[in-house]
Parts: sequence; structure tokens; C-alpha cells
Amino acid sequence: MSKEIKTSKISGFYKIPIAERVKIVKKFSDLSNEDARLFTSYLDMDIAERMIENTLGTFEIPLGIAVNFLINGKDYLIPMAIEESSVIAAASNAAKIARIKDGFKTECSEPLMIGQIQILHINDIAGAAKKILGKKKEILNLANDQDKVLVKFGGGAKDLEVRILDSPIGKMIVVHLIVDVRDAMGANAVNTMCEALAPMLEEITGGKVRLRILTNLADKRIVKAKAVFDKEKMGGEHIVDAFLESYNLAAIDPYRAATHNKGIMNGIDALIIATGNDFRAIEAGAHAYASRSGQYTSLSTYHKNENGDLVGELELPMAVGIVGGAGNIHPKAILCKKILGIKTARELAEVGVSLGLAQNFAAVFALSTVGIQKGHMSLHAKNIAVMAGAIGDEIEKVADIMVKEGKIKLDRAEEILKEIR
Ligand code: NAD
Repeated sequence: MSKEIKTSKISGFYKIPIAERVKIVKKFSDLSNEDARLFTSYLDMDIAERMIENTLGTFEIPLGIAVNFLINGKDYLIPMAIEESSVIAAASNAAKIARIKDGFKTECSEPLMIGQIQILHINDIAGAAKKILGKKKEILNLANDQDKVLVKFGGGAKDLEVRILDSPIGKMIVVHLIVDVRDAMGANAVNTMCEALAPMLEEITGGKVRLRILTNLADKRIVKAKAVFDKEKMGGEHIVDAFLESYNLAAIDPYRAATHNKGIMNGIDALIIATGNDFRAIEAGAHAYASRSGQYTSLSTYHKNENGDLVGELELPMAVGIVGGAGNIHPKAILCKKILGIKTARELAEVGVSLGLAQNFAAVFALSTVGIQKGHMSLHAKNIAVMAGAIGDEIEKVADIMVKEGKIKLDRAEEILKEIR
């Protein structure tokens, strides 16, 4: 495919038949016929059996594609695995608006994860802390002996920090091992290192090691996205002002911030799942980061620039990998990474944060104008129609009537179904 036509800007993607959509994605991402067949395949039972315990079967959720994304000057089609309607449409629409002003621009820190080693029952806490720092080189060497592959790729344990914490059961030391995990999510890598260090740290401190595990508050692995949303495309500067009024509640009120951040995670989780990453890890990190000032607040910020356009920024930890974990085992996760055309975990994080910002913009934009229900109604009506027993063409007919009436209720769906049968 020539570079000129490789754009993710596609109008009316939702209107074309599924087979046509697959053809577009196949061409954009240079997929093989075998790759494309995966879209409608099921996970092999033997893979499922290896992934978890007590396997019975698999559980499907839809996989879709968000279009229009321009991130750091590169076009992306973003695979999203999600059960909630309207999310992919909203992200695609936000990306279309962001494109007008050059799309999303991102910044990313090094992929540094933190492992925690808790040491208790120490007689001389301050002295022990000093001794640990004095043995830093030996400690880092032992950590790096655990993962030669990671070290070969330029990663590995890079630093350590010593924290003295007080608790109801007395003082303790918590060693933070800082590990560059390169293109991995890093949990296994870091946990293995932390466990290996326990005997050495007990010997150095004379204390007893208890917990040895990474923290999901990966606040040394931060990714940021920024985008400018055109005021005219939003409907005028008064809409930008309305948006900012809505946003400000999320900045000051945890009740609103929780929902605001949930909207961000609608997008991020869908990508995280599609690429076989650990969405609980990303969720935990995001919400802990949102509380870092002591009050839970919005992960994104918005302001108006001198031109009257809306500027949105999102910053959060993003512990994602393109090697290791389920992402290397699940054939659809491998396919989704191919669709994205990403080469590094950093690039995946940058796509993720941009998607989160798009999703957040779309939700607050809708809330500031027509409200959130309008976008949800059509698919919601179809679900209600199915619940009422509609099948085939009836689903669309029942849903259309309910949307026109503005009354989407199960009892009304049942009535309409009786009328049209
Ligand atoms: P992993 O151990 O499967 O893969 C990482 C390893 O791959 C590295 O240690 C390295 O040896 C190797 N590797 C090869 N090429 C590499 C490259 N280019 N860059 C980096 N490493 C490379 O997986 P992981 O990422 O260490 O751990 C992720 C898994 O851990 C996820 O499945 C997650 O669900 C799980 N987990 C999470 C938590 C948590 O979040 N609290 C806790 C335990 C386990």
C-alpha cells in the first residue's frame, strides 16, 4: 500500500458491511488471509486451558476498530475489545475532531517499574537503611542476574530507594527496586527480582522480609497525550465554555471524577484487553495516580487556548507490554498488535493515552451538549428489543419505533412487538 493512501480517516465506517470493514483493516495493516480469518475464530481450548485454571470454555466480547486516529503524525486504526455500545463511535468521532489540529501529541517516560520489598523486625532502622544503600551495587547485580534477557535488551534493575514507614505494628523499611522493563509489562520480571533479593536484604538488615511484589502505582512509567479540539467543529466557543464548566466539576469533586475517569478507561481498557494486557493493573495504576495529591481527581485537564479552541491533556501510568503475558499467547492479541503496527511498548502506551483522551473528550462533549443518552439510545433500544423477544428484522423495527417515540422501555418493546407481528 502506498504511503499517500494509508490514512485512518475513514468516513461512514460503521455503515459498511463487516466483510468490507475487514478488507479495509486488512489492507491498512497488511494482514494475511489467515490473520483476517482470526476475526471470526474462537480461542483454542488448549490455549484457554493453559491460560487459566479450571477452564470450561471461552467468553466472547465484540472486537471493533476506532478510526481517524492521528498520533504523533502517524495514522492508527485502533482495535478495541469492549461490550459497551457507543464507545468506539465516540472515540472515532473525537479523533476526527482532533485531526483538524494535527491529532494527538504524546510524551512518554522510560519503562520503569517499581518492585516493593517490605522488611520488618529491624532493630536499627536508620542504620539498616544506610547499609542497604551502601550495598546498592551488589543488590542491583543480584537482581539483574535473575533476568539476563531483559538486561540484554538494555533493561534491568537500575536503582533502588529506601523508605522508612511507620505503621500500627511498628516501623518497617520498604525497598523500592526500580527496574527498566523495556517492552514488557514487567510484573513477572520485577516480582522474580524482588523475591531473589529477600535473603540478601534480610542478611544486610537483620530483619524479616514479608511482601515482595511490584506496585501497580507505576508512577515512574508515565505517558501523556495532548490534543487541540477545534472550537468551530465543536459548535462554537460557547460550547468550549460549556465543556470547561462540565470538566471543572471533575477537577474538584471525587463523585464526578470517578465517572469522568471511568470514561477515560472505557477507551484504554478496550485497547488493553485487545492487546492481551492486564487491564486490572492499568486500572489500579490510573486510579491510584488520580489520588496522588491526597484527593481523588480527574486524570485529564482542559483549558481554552488563545484561539478559543479546547486543549485537552491526559497523564497516567501505563504499564503495558508487547512481549510476555497473555499478549504473546492469545492469537487475537497478536493480531491486534499487528493491526496497530506498533513496534514498542512505549508506542502502545502512547496509543492508549491518546485513545483515553479521545474517549474522555467525547464523553464530556456529549454531556456538555446533547447529554450522554442520545448516543447510547439506538443500540440500547436494540438490546431492549431483543430482551422483549424480537428476532431478525423485528429488532431494528422495534428499536426504531422506540427511539422515535423517545420511550425505550421493555413493556413498550413488548407492545410494539405484538403490534408488528
Ligand atoms: P513475562 O515474564 O511473560 O515477560 C517478560 C520477560 O520477557 C522479561 O522478563 C524478559 O526476560 C523477556 N523479554 C524478551 N524480550 C523482551 C523485551 N524486548 N523487553 C522486555 N522483556 C523482554 O511478563 P511480564 O511482563 O514480566 O509480566 C506480565 C504478566 O504478569 C501479566 O500477565 C500480568 O497479568 C502478570 N502479573 C501482574 C501482577 C500485577 O499487576 N500486580 C502481578 C503478578 C503477575
